[in-house]
Amino acid sequence: MNILLLGSGGREHAMAYKIAQSKRCDHLFIAPGNAGTASCGINVNLDISDFGKVGEFAVSHGVRMVVVGPEAPLVAGIADHFANTPALAHIMVIGPGKAGAQLEGSKDFAKAFMARHKIPTATYRTVTAKTLREGFEYLSTLQAPYVLKADGLAAGKGVLILNDREEAKQALKEMLMDAKFGKASEKVVIEQYLSGVELSVFVLTDGKHYHILPTAKDYKRIGEGDTGLNTGGMGSISPVHFADKAFMRKVEERIVIPTIKGLIHDQIPYKGFIFAGLMAVPCEGGYDPYVIEYNVRMGDPETESVFPRIESDVVELFEHVWAGDLQHTTLSVSHNAAACVMMVAEGYPGSYRKGDVIHGLEDDDLPQESLVFHAGTKTNEKGEVVTNGGRVICVTSMAESMPSALLRTYQYLDHITWKGRTYRHDIGQDLLKMMM
Ligand code: AMP
Repeated sequence: MNILLLGSGGREHAMAYKIAQSKRCDHLFIAPGNAGTASCGINVNLDISDFGKVGEFAVSHGVRMVVVGPEAPLVAGIADHFANTPALAHIMVIGPGKAGAQLEGSKDFAKAFMARHKIPTATYRTVTAKTLREGFEYLSTLQAPYVLKADGLAAGKGVLILNDREEAKQALKEMLMDAKFGKASEKVVIEQYLSGVELSVFVLTDGKHYHILPTAKDYKRIGEGDTGLNTGGMGSISPVHFADKAFMRKVEERIVIPTIKGLIHDQIPYKGFIFAGLMAVPCEGGYDPYVIEYNVRMGDPETESVFPRIESDVVELFEHVWAGDLQHTTLSVSHNAAACVMMVAEGYPGSYRKGDVIHGLEDDDLPQESLVFHAGTKTNEKGEVVTNGGRVICVTSMAESMPSALLRTYQYLDHITWKGRTYRHDIGQDLLKMMM
């Protein structure tokens, strides 16, 4: 069948790489894609927020399946647009409708969902400009640090963690009264701070049945030792060693099953990925999982370490997601560890240059075990691959152990260069230390 994948980052390159391997895939289109996705299929210059145009393209190119990479089209209702348009209703859309996408589109919705379905998460209070005083009072019942979250999508920037209560009050006021994050902060969730170790758990579901995909950990801060500004992600590893059988049993029983049952109970159909950002909080004999956030799509850069480990045909899995019989499939996962390191443009996540020529991509002598996924790249008029974003290219390597996978990735990075490229040298090191 012909498949259309929406998105343009490293996540989409990793997904395109797996989709293109499927025996069920004839033509793969990626909209808009990047210089890397062009090696897996045909890039299409489409505005993916224009659902009318996406639908027209799908019909004129005989597309049978649309896989949605990023959250914005899901939150804006692309799956509903396809379902409610007679000419498009037969097309399988992998990604939830607007109702399900609220799990990511509104923190208040997600917290109320978790409270309703008894899913472990930080205690919270949602406030608006009208109830600012209540917000101040709630803050005075909490201990530092204070967590403030803009309700809506804020490009990953809407969460503030502050050590001082007065500062927290001031920030809350700015979010609600001065629209610090625009419409996204018309409501603010104030939350109890949880300390522990973060990890990401991904679920593929047809709304009733599910597979839990490999666990991963991503590294969000720009600086070594997790310091400095937040980024879209500087690297990821999979699996996460402390997410052992006992921990994953808790995740399944306390989080995955209640989430799916909650969706069924609330009559929210859901066909796609659920990403649970978890805090593993130390407890006697191990860790207890708490949900920090839901996302309604795969994570980036977690996809770049999770997808290469999936051995099953992902398109076949997607077909069963659509058919609602995912229980008839098995998920096969490589026992190898995967390590992904993202290379970024100088200055990122502040201002950075675009258009620098990237060298080393065509080198035939490069080791086969490593995969190069493009994030912010494009091909210029001269046919050169150039930087086109802050996060530019990542390398994922697989090996029998995490240290070997990391070593392979770091050795490979030296082959790919451009003016001012940087990366973090400590991806995975925190977990390796925990293992010792
Ligand atoms: P979110 O966008 O909700 O994932 O939040 C961004 C980051 O803020 C998370 O990845 C955590 O590192 C941190 N964070 C969010 N909520 C909490 C919390 N309740 N306790 C501790 N850290 C948090």
